[in-house]
Amino acid sequence: MIIDKWLISKDSLEKLFNVLKKDSKKIYAPVGRNGKISFRETDRFGEIDTGYIQTAQSSKEVVFPRTEKILDYNKNKDGVSVKGFDPGSIPEVVLWGVRPCDAMGIWKLSAIFNWDFKDEIFNTRLSRVTVVGFSCARADEYCFCTSAGGGPGNTEGSDILLTQLGENGDYLAEILTEKGSAIVTIASELFRENTVLNKEQFLADVPVRFDREELRVKLEKIFESGCWTKQSLRCLGCGACAYVCPTCACFDIQDEAHGGSGMRVRCWDSCGFSLFTLHTSGHNPREVQSQRWRQRIMHKFSYMPDRLSVYGCTGCGRCSRACPADMNMLEHLISIQEAEA
Ligand code: SF4
Ligand code: SF4
Repeated sequence: MIIDKWLISKDSLEKLFNVLKKDSKKIYAPVGRNGKISFRETDRFGEIDTGYIQTAQSSKEVVFPRTEKILDYNKNKDGVSVKGFDPGSIPEVVLWGVRPCDAMGIWKLSAIFNWDFKDEIFNTRLSRVTVVGFSCARADEYCFCTSAGGGPGNTEGSDILLTQLGENGDYLAEILTEKGSAIVTIASELFRENTVLNKEQFLADVPVRFDREELRVKLEKIFESGCWTKQSLRCLGCGACAYVCPTCACFDIQDEAHGGSGMRVRCWDSCGFSLFTLHTSGHNPREVQSQRWRQRIMHKFSYMPDRLSVYGCTGCGRCSRACPADMNMLEHLISIQEAEA
């Protein structure tokens, strides 16, 4: 829902950044280091990369950290004492420069973390994040957001979405939530009346490459197809695709013990790992890589839309860019449509 539309000049972005910084918020933005652009905490506007197509890692780490302490415990002669998660320890954060596919990813994560159990830690983090999205003026051959229900100017998941109106042009600011409105309120002098009605001409061209509803119907018929083995022959099971993905939410719970005390942490996991579904008995219901690959596709394009009414992929293309074995998600999804049952 668009609450309001404004214009902000390119030169005013730094001022907006500084207003948010002064508002005592931690700011995470795309910053390049060692040849990779990733979301990092920064207080320097000058180090933010603005022309990137996609960061190496998604922004999900801000709402769903790679490793996160859930509780501390201590065993003593009276039993076990437990100190749980402290909501007060979670800071207010601005996620600056998020592409629409990542913003949509946060929204999909929220569907996962609120399906049958409301995850308090995730929800607390999300409630303290303001997403400042930036539309895409450029895309590459890995991007397929329009096939995944999004688009280079998609507003879902952003609190405010900025679209540059041509190279060196002003930015259209679409205010999408109360958090977005709050930004305009604290920096009202930087925003001015909008006279531009259509942002479409300034967005990247990302052609639709497949119909996700048709794909979903097809997936119901090809569980036993040989296409899974054929597609996954190259897959190393390294899990890189899940770690860079804005919507992958599988995690493991582990105790780090030091004598009688320790902490319980949750950390990212991947359905691509051979140990992922290994039972204590030694039995593994997904014992070969083709079954794990099938699970990845089925989960995102069949099980999630069935159970949560959202698809588990934003078409960001990161998994294909990151894969050391050159597994291309878009190509595989297109070829599944031709697979025999
Ligand atoms: S990144 Fe590539 S090789 Fe690694 S698990 Fe994913 S698909 Fe397989
Ligand atoms: S599955 Fe691949 S293309 Fe889809 S959201 Fe995850 S990383 Fe992006």
